Amino acid sequence: MASETLFQCPNCAAALKQGDKQYFCANGHSFDLAKQGYVNLLLPRDTGSAAPGDNREMLRSRREFLDGGYYAKFSAAVCQEIAPSKSSRVDILDAGCGEGYYLRAAAETLQDMGRQAALYGIDVSKSAIRYAAGRYKQIRFAVASNYHLPIRTRSVDCLLCIFAPRCEAEFSRVLKPEGNLIVAAPGPRHLVQLRELLYECPPPIGERGTMGDGFRLARQSNVRYEIFLTSHDLLNLFLMTPFSRHADKQLLEGIDSLACEVDFRIFVYQKR
Ligand SMILES: [Zn+2]
Repeated sequence: MASETLFQCPNCAAALKQGDKQYFCANGHSFDLAKQGYVNLLLPRDTGSAAPGDNREMLRSRREFLDGGYYAKFSAAVCQEIAPSKSSRVDILDAGCGEGYYLRAAAETLQDMGRQAALYGIDVSKSAIRYAAGRYKQIRFAVASNYHLPIRTRSVDCLLCIFAPRCEAEFSRVLKPEGNLIVAAPGPRHLVQLRELLYECPPPIGERGTMGDGFRLARQSNVRYEIFLTSHDLLNLFLMTPFSRHADKQLLEGIDSLACEVDFRIFVYQKR
């Protein structure tokens, strides 16, 4: 028996239904479910490289780091913003969900509140989606790009975008008229002690997380606290950030522990 989903066909934009082994649209396009339960909806024309997105080493580092609970307080703050939505049933999309850490937290929050929810996660990294789908069976995952969301128009109550690329046109298309867009981005003090170790003059973090005219800012909050990193997790943190592409890992050698500030901005937007 096939079930309705929020996914749409990347070829023809018709609704995708989920069968036992594949997703399919009314126009005869079908997409096989991978063994882990995810579906690849990324068309070759929408991707520049063979394996886009974060690589496996970055993913493993991020997974270990997040499992250490360093971002739990931030994650809880994001979930607070999801919960106030009025409807009894909440359809959530995490656009750029990585390995599903924040979606899992959202699922638990909503479950604790006794709210019905359907959760979807997409990411351009197949390794991330494969891992997420293997770990969180109650969430639907697809490999896809934030610039071509394979999601039905005006279907999403709450769209999460946490440190991921923002595509205003697509975000606006998939959100319901009363839906919320929750964007999280680093604030100016984010990881400042780590940046000071890596750069002589750390470049300032500019204004992040803003949206264009199609959205209005409903509210904004800041989450700042200190984390205490072991040398192992310091390295994981380095490897999961863009710093690892520019800075020298050896600068972190011999550091046993580090007290480091985290500084997050959480923006809640609504469509104009
Ligand atoms: Zn189709």
